[in-house]
Amino acid sequence: DTNEMELIFDSCSENEGFARVAVAAFLTQLNPTLEEVADVKTAVSEAVTNAVIHGYDQEIHKIRIRCRISGHAMEIEIRDEGNGIEDVEKAMQPMFTTRPELDRSGMGFAFMEAFMDELEVESEPGKGTTVRMKK
Ligand code: ATP
Ligand code: MG
Repeated sequence: DTNEMELIFDSCSENEGFARVAVAAFLTQLNPTLEEVADVKTAVSEAVTNAVIHGYDQEIHKIRIRCRISGHAMEIEIRDEGNGIEDVEKAMQPMFTTRPELDRSGMGFAFMEAFMDELEVESEPGKGTTVRMKK
């Protein structure tokens, strides 16, 4: 049996914390360990920050999160309809960033990869980006 929720919120940086806590709250029904909760929060935070900064260039547009729990697994999808990514494979390499001037270190995708069990990025320049993760 599955349980699903969706969130739509503005891409302001105040909402990074909201999104992280909302997903963690939904996750509690799986009785996760503290470590699992921390991992998911970090991954959500990185993906939402990316949508805010890179997807929308800090303009305010909508970010969508969909979470699906089935059995003891959780699937999270974080989507923006912003700039998109030219070369996803390159963008996912550790320490690759297009915004060094903003003090970005290019570690967001590496953290998502490390803290989640699966990571999949789908993106089209000019259309937006969808990040799918499983835990
Ligand atoms: P850090 O996450 O360490 O602050 P970063 O955001 O640059 O730095 P990643 O999160 O790994 O590093 O992302 C790598 C690159 O992928 C970004 O610099 C950006 O060019 C691109 N990118 C990531 N997410 C998006 C997105 N939602 N929309 C457009 N481009 C993105
Ligand atoms: Mg990042």
